[in-house]
Amino acid sequence: MVPGLPEPDAGSDLANVRTSARLVDDEWSIDGQKIWTSNAHESDWIFVVARTEPGSQRHRGLSFLLVPLDQPGIEVRPIDQLTGGSEFNEVFFTDARTRADLVVGDPGQGWRVAMDLLGFERGVSTLAQQVGFERELADPVSLAWDNGTFDDPVLRDRLAQAKVGLAVMKANAVRTLTDPVPGSDSIAKLVWANWHRDLGELAMAISGPAALTAGPDYHLDARQRLFLFSRADTIYGGSDEIQRNILAERVLGLPKESRG
Ligand SMILES: Cc1cc2nc3c(=O)[nH]c(=O)nc-3n(C[C@H](O)[C@H](O)[C@H](O)COP(=O)(O)OP(=O)(O)OC[C@H]3O[C@@H](n4cnc5c(N)ncnc54)[C@H](O)[C@@H]3O)c2cc1C
Repeated sequence: MVPGLPEPDAGSDLANVRTSARLVDDEWSIDGQKIWTSNAHESDWIFVVARTEPGSQRHRGLSFLLVPLDQPGIEVRPIDQLTGGSEFNEVFFTDARTRADLVVGDPGQGWRVAMDLLGFERGVSTLAQQVGFERELADPVSLAWDNGTFDDPVLRDRLAQAKVGLAVMKANAVRTLTDPVPGSDSIAKLVWANWHRDLGELAMAISGPAALTAGPDYHLDARQRLFLFSRADTIYGGSDEIQRNILAERVLGLPKESRG
């Protein structure tokens, strides 16, 4: 099951969803497009946030539908990435069908469900990945020993900062689980996404010129893939700017920015 939330004109501004669904007999008929749908090419089902109340505006009139992917009305097109992978997809719906009762929450209440899902994606669901971060940090540390870059005081300092950042992230993760504060999800997303992107840059700096070339058939090593993939960390799940807006407006109560 994969989430189908963003569309080409509804990324940060998710309430701009254009994909629509209408009841035809006892089924939803869905038309529209989603983008950046992770692993849709390997999945059986997709969540689709669709406008089910014609003429409704923004976050009203949306529903959270569960839709089987293997059907004639759905086309999945993988997006080629710089990493050499293609686990994200465009998904096109042309009179795609799903049963009328396959709605999470009530029809018209899809925005709330989508926000809860995003909160989970930004915060709690990412805590386990920090075990992987520990392993990813060990790799440039070991390379720095091997290739002598440990003697470079600037790189040593950046490695030490990465270690400290990981410790802070772990403490923050425990707080998110045990004593969440308002905005915990956005804080967690900002902290881990920037830490991980910085680690990708640090891995490239320690690799030196070797980082600049791919092997035969565009073979990339783990550090190059880390660097390239982590460029998206501060975008997916809601960009840094959106997390800061959430913290500024909803947590600190600062004036809303102009949406004009
Ligand atoms: C590799 C990758 C994987 C993804 N995987 C998933 C996934 O698995 N599931 C999923 O649901 N989504 C996924 N996404 C989609 C992702 O959530 C969106 O790309 C993201 O929300 C940004 O939307 P956008 O691309 O339409 O950019 P836009 O919304 O057009 O934003 C463009 C730029 O403008 C800034 N911006 C926009 N609005 C504001 C504002 N109000 N204030 C300040 N700055 C603003 C943004 O921060 C960004 O820098 C993925 C994206 C990428 C690139």
